[in-house]
This record gives sequence, structure tokens and C-alpha cells, in this order.
Amino acid sequence: DRLREAYVARHPESRARLQAAAEVMPGGNTRSVLFYEPFPLAIARGEGARLWDADGHGYTDFIGEFTAGLYGHSHPLIRDAIDAALDGGINLTGHNLLEAELARLVTQRFPSLERLRFTNSGTEANLLAITAARHFTGRRKVLVFKGAYHGGVLTFAGGPSPVNVPFPFVIGTYNDIEGTTALVKEHAADLAAIVVEPMQGAGGCIVGQPDFLHALRRLASEAGALLVFDEVMTSRLAPGGRQAVLGIRPDLTTLGKYIGGGMSFGAFGGRADVMAQFDPRTPGHLGHAGTFNNNVLTMSAGIAGLSRIYTPEVAQALNARGDALRDRLNASCRAHGLALQFTGLGSLMNLHGTGVAIRNVDDIPTAEGIVKDLFFFHMLEQGFYLARRGFIVLSLPITDADIERFHAAVEAFLRRFGP
Ligand code: PLP
Repeated sequence: DRLREAYVARHPESRARLQAAAEVMPGGNTRSVLFYEPFPLAIARGEGARLWDADGHGYTDFIGEFTAGLYGHSHPLIRDAIDAALDGGINLTGHNLLEAELARLVTQRFPSLERLRFTNSGTEANLLAITAARHFTGRRKVLVFKGAYHGGVLTFAGGPSPVNVPFPFVIGTYNDIEGTTALVKEHAADLAAIVVEPMQGAGGCIVGQPDFLHALRRLASEAGALLVFDEVMTSRLAPGGRQAVLGIRPDLTTLGKYIGGGMSFGAFGGRADVMAQFDPRTPGHLGHAGTFNNNVLTMSAGIAGLSRIYTPEVAQALNARGDALRDRLNASCRAHGLALQFTGLGSLMNLHGTGVAIRNVDDIPTAEGIVKDLFFFHMLEQGFYLARRGFIVLSLPITDADIERFHAAVEAFLRRFGP
């Protein structure tokens, strides 16, 4: 309560902004994930890895736009790329000179994407990938996993959401090979796709076990269904995404977030024969329009990011720094004898209020919300901005000194609320 009172006292402008916004948007909100009680911070400005709220408090940004902000706020090369696109005029109403270049960079980075198409978000990419799989197989059902997040209209936190698009979903248990095998057998005749995040991101950075993900590859092939890897979040974890590390070739992959240089972005792609359904030269092809699919700002920023900033070496280095930080944070939790842990891979991690290994969302204690609240408000007080759910993301402009200060702030939390 004291933390909360201090938060309210320190942020009168954020509170006023939310009240005013609520006159024109329900709850003053247009992105559900950003809302938390008593009211979310209004962020006024960002630079590199720093953010300032409407009351003038500064933060080091340890959430990086939920992974889309890999390059930080207005990286000079991204800025130059956007400026160059602006100079050439936006909204060109035609195939432009940039889209194939970004597509080529993506296919080189992720070889399972033999062909790809762009969308405006990861959500759309998943909707299109599912549609492609259903059309290709002539089947209807889609196997997803409890705890999965494939977009605002494809969220399976505790079963289907009221706003999910009405595909006939079958919901399995993540990392459960036996149960999933039975489900696939049961629905095999009408199963179009298995859609899976190699690590459940929004679900709390729950790592997909390699044997589970390999089993999905085998099960999909045996059932004649397509395996779709949602790498919207995990594509940053290695130069070729999580699929390269695991040595799994999905039939389709969806991408998003940082690959558009921090601009609105999504992509879906994979096997050439599946993607050929979208070839407009073919009679009966699948249509996929979208005014902003190839917008020059995203294309230009994305090209700069992949070709000039997030090189394979830089990707390896960032994720190694993340692994090192997570190891240190977990060592601190153990040293303080607390039932807390940071799950995740590479540059992505999530706090959980249990010391027990987490294989799927059912292993997450419901009471952990309190610990996460304390952690979130403590870290804000210490000058670190992260997601209310305990999600922590390293982006490129974060320095080693920032990481040291972050670790010290977590240590202070463990001392403050420890036994
Ligand atoms: N898939 C995954 C794994 C995600 O983490 C997200 C977003 O967080 C999405 C899909 C949806 O992407 P977008 O927010 O661009 O629609």
C-alpha cells in the first residue's frame, strides 16, 4: 500500500492524462496490455534506452516496446532510414523499391521462409498463416496451447477469449507431449495446423522444451497438418530465430516486432508451395490486401535494422548478455532463499513467484500477482520501466552499467521484501 500511495503521489500528471483520455477511449486505453491499477504512466518521450513520463521522472527502459523496440528510441540509423523514406514520399500506391529487399533479408535470416508476405502486425500475420494452412490442407481445426498469445484476437491465457476469431481451436497443454499426441490423434482428420510459440512470451517466458517442439514437428507431419511457429517474439533470440537453434523447420513462421525497425510490422511465410496460394497470377488464389502492408517507412526501417544493426554477431552478443543477467538474478533469488525465479531465454525474461520449474501456465501460482505488483512498483521507484506482469526485455542501447544498476535494484527488492 505504501508503494502504491507513493506512486500516486509522484504521478499526478499521468493520472490526469488517463482521466482525460477516458473521455474519448474506454478506460483511457487503446492497448489493453498497458493498463494497470491505479493508473498507468503516461510516457512523454524516449531517447536510446531512456524514457520520461508526463511528470518528468526518467526511467531506463527494460521493456523495449514488448520486444519491438530492440533498436531503442530513435536509433540514428533507423531515423536516417525513415528520413530517406520520407524524402521519397509515403503512400506510393504501388509495388515499391524496398519491399523485396526487406523480404530477401528476412528469407536469408530465416531460411524456412522460402516466400513471405508482409502485414501490419503479428496478429494479422497469425490470422493469415492460419488461413493459409486451412486453405492448403482443406481442413478446419487449429491446435494451439493454453497460455499462448498469438495476438489481440488470438489469446489463450485461460482458454479461448471472448474476442477470439471463431476458428475451431483445439487447446492443448504446453510442453505435454503425451496429452498433445492424444489430441492430435483425436483431431487428425480435420487438423489444419499446429500453431506454437517456441517460448510462450506473454504467457510468462515459458520455454518450449526441445523434445516437445520436435514432437510437434513429427505429429504435424504424421497428421498432414502444417506446423506454424509463431516467432513474433522469439525471432530475436538467435540470428535464425529459435527454429535455427532447435534445428526445426516449420512449414510456416510468423514474425513481427523489431523486424520492421520498430514500426508497425508483421510477416508470415514458409514453404513455397503453401505461400503460392497467394500468387495473384494463379486462378483461385487467396487474396491478401492491406493498405499498409508494404509501407515505405516500415520497409526502410526494417532494412536498416537487419542489414546494419542487428547483425548475427550483435544478436548473439545481446542474448548472451541476457543469459548472464538472468543467471545472476536467479542466483540472487536463491541466495536470499526466496521462492522467486526469472524464466526465459536470451534477452527475454519474466519474474515468477515460485521456485518450482514452470513447464506451462498451470504451474504458475495465481497468488504471484502480489509479488509482481511489489516488484513492478519497486523497480519504477528505482528508475526502471518494465511490464507490469514482470516481463523484462533487453534492447540494444542498454549498457553494462544499466544492467549493473538493474541487478542492484533487484537485490534491493529481495532485501526489502525478503524473509
Ligand atoms: N505473437 C506473439 C508471440 C506475440 O508476442 C505478439 C505480440 O506481443 C503477437 C503475436 C501479436 O503481435 P502484434 O502485437 O504486432 O499484433
